[in-house]
Amino acid sequence: MPQQWITKRSSEGSFASSSGAMVEKQLRPRGIDDPRVLRAMAKVPREKFVPRELQASAYDDRALPIGFGQTISQPFIVAFMTQAVKPKPTDRVLEIGTGSGYQAAVLGELVAEVFTVEIVRPLAQRAATVLNALGYKNVLVKGGDGYKGWSEHAPYDAIVVTAAPDHIPEPLIAQLKEGGRMVIPVGKESSQQLYAMEKHGGAMKRTAVLPVKFVPLTRDPAKK
Ligand code: SAH
Repeated sequence: MPQQWITKRSSEGSFASSSGAMVEKQLRPRGIDDPRVLRAMAKVPREKFVPRELQASAYDDRALPIGFGQTISQPFIVAFMTQAVKPKPTDRVLEIGTGSGYQAAVLGELVAEVFTVEIVRPLAQRAATVLNALGYKNVLVKGGDGYKGWSEHAPYDAIVVTAAPDHIPEPLIAQLKEGGRMVIPVGKESSQQLYAMEKHGGAMKRTAVLPVKFVPLTRDPAKK
């Protein structure tokens, strides 16, 4: 038993230094320089959001499978999107594509409230369980089709979309505040651009910021 305790402690310690190494090797050299974002990336225990058998690879510089044909995004992409959406401590943020819940946890460290929608119900449930166990009381998870946003809690200061539609969903624009920010990958599976957008005078101003590869945004057939 004591042996087991020592093993557990030492593996937790190495995970903590792994997140620090991830910040220094993968994020800072690639232009992630918002100190709040870097702090959040160092703090959130990514190993809790990946399948047990992949925990040793949790801080690798890549996306990892999380079941149901879905993935947890590469750490750099999570940090890049988080920085691009300019999170403020008072913000209410909508995320589409909860997946593992990792991006939601990172946002949860930085803003007042996070509302996140996942179309694969068992993933939504698992993410809610993990986020709850880690004490993220300001993150609310819902199973559903995020194309339609989450109107009950709208309008949002910012929206982060982590699955790629082939056009910007109109309901998401409608649920964004005037002056609000949205970060969203758009395109076909083979070629997508990440856009950083802002809503001004009801219209979206958009800038392409990075070529990316996300899983497609699917639709809930029963609820189209
Ligand atoms: N943000 C996640 C990774 C996203 S992977 C993380 O931090 O782990 C993209 C996720 O979007 C997948 O889990 C996929 O099931 C989900 N998804 C795809 N289409 C969706 C839709 N219409 N509404 C909500 N979620 C969707």
